[in-house]
Amino acid sequence: MKITSVEAIPLAVSFRSTFRFGTTDRSTSPNVVVLIRTDDGVTGYGEACPVPAFTSETQASIVELVEQRISPALSGLDPRNRIALLAELHKILRFAPFTIAAVDTALLDLVGRASGLPVHALLGGAFRTRTEVHGSVGWDADPAKVAATAVEQAETYRWLKLYAGRGELDADIDRLQAVRDAVGPETRLFVDINGMWSPSDLMRALPRIREIDLVMLEQPLPPSATGAIRDLVAKLEVDVVADESVRTVTDAAAVARENTATVINLGHSKLGGPSTAMHAAHIAHGNGIGLMVGSVIEMGLATAMGLHIAAALPSLAYPSYLMGPLKYRQQITQEQVEVLDGHIAIPEGPGLGVTVDEDALRELDARR
Ligand SMILES: [Mg+2]
Repeated sequence: MKITSVEAIPLAVSFRSTFRFGTTDRSTSPNVVVLIRTDDGVTGYGEACPVPAFTSETQASIVELVEQRISPALSGLDPRNRIALLAELHKILRFAPFTIAAVDTALLDLVGRASGLPVHALLGGAFRTRTEVHGSVGWDADPAKVAATAVEQAETYRWLKLYAGRGELDADIDRLQAVRDAVGPETRLFVDINGMWSPSDLMRALPRIREIDLVMLEQPLPPSATGAIRDLVAKLEVDVVADESVRTVTDAAAVARENTATVINLGHSKLGGPSTAMHAAHIAHGNGIGLMVGSVIEMGLATAMGLHIAAALPSLAYPSYLMGPLKYRQQITQEQVEVLDGHIAIPEGPGLGVTVDEDALRELDARR
């Protein structure tokens, strides 16, 4: 089996409502579907979802890299040598994690489809058939609006991710309190600060974080605040998750070595693909660091990839962030994401186990 071409389709897609977190407002999303075609007639699909907070890649840069560098480099090669092919790509692309993530995903999908195996089997096999997912309640200036969204989501999810760091500290904490008051004590709440607090903000916030019963803090300090976070992690009674500070396998090793977090957010897009994500996961797990599967809120292909990773990890410290397609107005896969009892089933079919809606791809093509 040989690769004949690698193609990229830029999508024009949008969110059901504007999603605010960190310094970001998302109402549209610049996703790109990557297709790897072979002389066997089997096609593998991947998805890139570049987010400015993580990468300087854009929809246009991803399409150009795929067409001008990746397709010529991979054409004629055997897709079953996935890691060797990715090593070749790392020689010609300098830090294009979201682009490579889509290619890595498409290679796994392709080999899975060709062999009849689900992607999780190619990653070493499944520890579970479903994974718990959490909801996410975007930041809003109006606490009543945040609380209302949380109440609505609490009907579907047992766990909700909240955001802080964007507003003034006390006002942000008041919003978190408003959510706790609205949803009651049963819903588990955690907060992503996207690296926007200072160490003194965090110290000031801690008593109220305990009061509100937030079980985990994601990226409370900027990635550069290594010393401060190490000291705090040693003292804190809540888990600290590293997200923005883990962009590479080397970063994951640094967290394990320096104890700058108790859990790593394993997003395969920001980490440059499922293969590097699994590498980072094994380093973290082997060093007693917990794992949760994150995302940048992707559509059906990258989300399916995340589900296979969630299946293949030996243990998960927290629910996964894998309900992304539900935030989009449009869909690119025929299967709809379904949250049952707070969980999403791991796809079982060959490859990613989802059916790409070719009509939708044509209709959503941003070049039309
Ligand atoms: Mg995060």
